[in-house]
Amino acid sequence: MGALLEVSGLKVNFGHVEAVKGIDFVLNEGEITTLVGANGAGKSTTLLALSGLVPKAGGKVLFAGRDITRLAPHRIVHLGLSQVAEGRAILTRLTVRENLELGAYHRNDTDAIAADFEHVLGLFPRLRERLDGFAGNLSGGEQQMLAIARALMARPRILLLDEPSMGLAPLIVQEIFRIIRTINEAGLTIFLVEQNVRQALKIAHRAYVIETGEIVLKGTGEELLDHPRVLEAYLGV
Ligand code: ATP
Repeated sequence: MGALLEVSGLKVNFGHVEAVKGIDFVLNEGEITTLVGANGAGKSTTLLALSGLVPKAGGKVLFAGRDITRLAPHRIVHLGLSQVAEGRAILTRLTVRENLELGAYHRNDTDAIAADFEHVLGLFPRLRERLDGFAGNLSGGEQQMLAIARALMARPRILLLDEPSMGLAPLIVQEIFRIIRTINEAGLTIFLVEQNVRQALKIAHRAYVIETGEIVLKGTGEELLDHPRVLEAYLGV
């Protein structure tokens, strides 16, 4: 399948810090693409730039062939790029149900929203049990699930995930990655930014390694899992 998102020469500066130094990558339709790297390598900045939440110092972003480089964040969301932020950013003083409803706030296709609501509760049965409880009372893993579920309520064409495994116990991490795979198998294109290099490469069709703002390796997830540089620098082998 072809590229749904094409990024070329993407640059982001914070003052004199060149956080992202002109990177190129593509997200193929229907695939999981991962961007892995250490803390501070530029992963979150790349995602924020795609969503229009930090200004780009250079480069071009094509979404389904359309130039979205300079679009405002809300327009980018409307086109179908939905981001799940690092640290999850759910509304802790609203209920689980209200958080999910907010995910669909810009839609008015009531029947489809109701169908999607059932669909995400099917993916995340724990959320169904806690629908009318405050989101702030959920465990860390459940909050991550809610954040993903809320993003799905927007019916995105691409789901952008910023370190969904962060701060979660290993078993919960497994569950989150399993769900990401399930969502992808249902057809959704996913861009996964992760420090958990092993897990991310395991589920990714395509992968990029970023170091100090530059892509230093790319390949299939499988290829990079076996790459000497990845083994040494990220997998402690
Ligand atoms: P993390 O795992 O911490 O999210 P990351 O790979 O996502 O790491 P970024 O958060 O994208 O890395 O940061 C890339 C670089 O840009 C780092 O050097 C960071 O210190 C710097 N940086 C990020 N955000 C800002 C900001 N708002 N102002 C100044 N510098 C920033």
